[in-house]
Amino acid sequence: MIILLFILGLEFGSFLNVVIDRLPDGRSLMKPPSHCDNCGTRLKIVDLIPLISYLWLRGRCRYCGLHIPIRVFCVELATGIMFAFLWARYGLSNELWIFAVYACLFIAIFVIDLNTQLILNKMTYPACIFALATVPLRDDLNYFDSVTGNTFIGGVVGFTLLLLVVVVSRGGMGFGDVKMSALMGFALGYPNIFVGLFVGIITGGLVATGLLIMKRKGRKQAIPFGPFLAIGAMTALIWGDAIWDWYTTPFN
Ligand SMILES: [Zn+2]
Repeated sequence: MIILLFILGLEFGSFLNVVIDRLPDGRSLMKPPSHCDNCGTRLKIVDLIPLISYLWLRGRCRYCGLHIPIRVFCVELATGIMFAFLWARYGLSNELWIFAVYACLFIAIFVIDLNTQLILNKMTYPACIFALATVPLRDDLNYFDSVTGNTFIGGVVGFTLLLLVVVVSRGGMGFGDVKMSALMGFALGYPNIFVGLFVGIITGGLVATGLLIMKRKGRKQAIPFGPFLAIGAMTALIWGDAIWDWYTTPFN
């Protein structure tokens, strides 16, 4: 089953690559079918096998030799791995498919923010509605019953904390990050939203420091924060409870 989920994830990852290419400029996701952006040749089934086609063709278009970004391979692999992890963690359950939708969303947000420095409203808004609508299907979240696992409190915490960061950093982060953080809160609930933000901020800080040391980025150059929020969100989806327990145990 875990291999099946991995392969299913690869297929979804393949489609995510289309979303990542087309959604930012508002192109249709269905038409035209997959083709090479350079020579226009319509791709055949053999050119569209996740991972394998990329390796087999050594990252080039079969027809014109155009270089295909390694991102295509990474998105497929990451989606496959996330689906496998979700199966291992949740098995056959509502959480499995709901979190698989989130995994796709967060991977797409990761790459689109990296490419365009934008977190698209046409992704975050419907995703917030999806998050709130699927709460009754989940055991770990509620609307009003209790503070723990409360989706509204999670969203408010996510929104407020990142809004503070945006105000304090004055331009270091955008309002897209605030909306992304609110989405994380609705999806993760309270207190899991803290795990998502914490992991995102730590990884973002480490990578930013690394880039500064290697002089890849100047101090004033903006590094998109969406990818790190996405990493935090996906970590919290799978290991949120474990991390929260580990972190709070010494204080109990
Ligand atoms: Zn081509």
